[in-house]
Amino acid sequence: MEHVPTFPVTETVVVDHPAVVCDGIGITLGHPRVYLHIKPGQDSVVCPYCSRQFVLNNTAAVANAH
Ligand SMILES: [Zn+2]
Repeated sequence: MEHVPTFPVTETVVVDHPAVVCDGIGITLGHPRVYLHIKPGQDSVVCPYCSRQFVLNNTAAVANAH
């Protein structure tokens, strides 16, 4: 079954860490679990399967810097 990532970003998820696991929870089809990583200097990453955007919570990142 061919994967066709056609739908745009429709949901934004705020995360506390740059390492994100997404398996499509919240959408109808779902997808295999994938590991995404928000690169240094960037503040977000988009899942290539379900097009959800994960935005790093900078406030939490500062709070965790100890
Ligand atoms: Zn996803």
